[in-house]
Amino acid sequence: MDISRVDHVGIAVNNLEETLKFYEDVLGLKCGGTEVIEEQKVKVAFLPVGETELELLESTTQDGPIAKFIAENGGRGGIQHVAVRVSNIEKAIEEVKAKGYKMIDEKPRYGAGNAKIAFCHPKGVDGVLLELSERK
Ligand code: ZN
Repeated sequence: MDISRVDHVGIAVNNLEETLKFYEDVLGLKCGGTEVIEEQKVKVAFLPVGETELELLESTTQDGPIAKFIAENGGRGGIQHVAVRVSNIEKAIEEVKAKGYKMIDEKPRYGAGNAKIAFCHPKGVDGVLLELSERK
């Protein structure tokens, strides 16, 4: 598989505005923009760090995947997923399946920042949620 970098680390947060203060005021990172993705029930903020990014995710509903993650994590935020950048996501998905592993997303879907993304099934990754991301 052709992977060029860690695209981003996805961090679940309870309150985006509150949490951004630490990343911006203390770490000195600059928020590259926010985006609401209705389908995934999240509000996302990107913080570029060198060639990669931190992706802060706040749930927009009580029942979205980020709300569930935080509930399972005892009400705290935490690292929810890691994304690697692939050059061709359709090919990457086929490769995962051809090697006997499962995908959550059999087809790419829209990801924040105009990416095409697909999650590998955590069963094959020792419980880690790994995202494949293609971005031009
Ligand atoms: Zn992500």
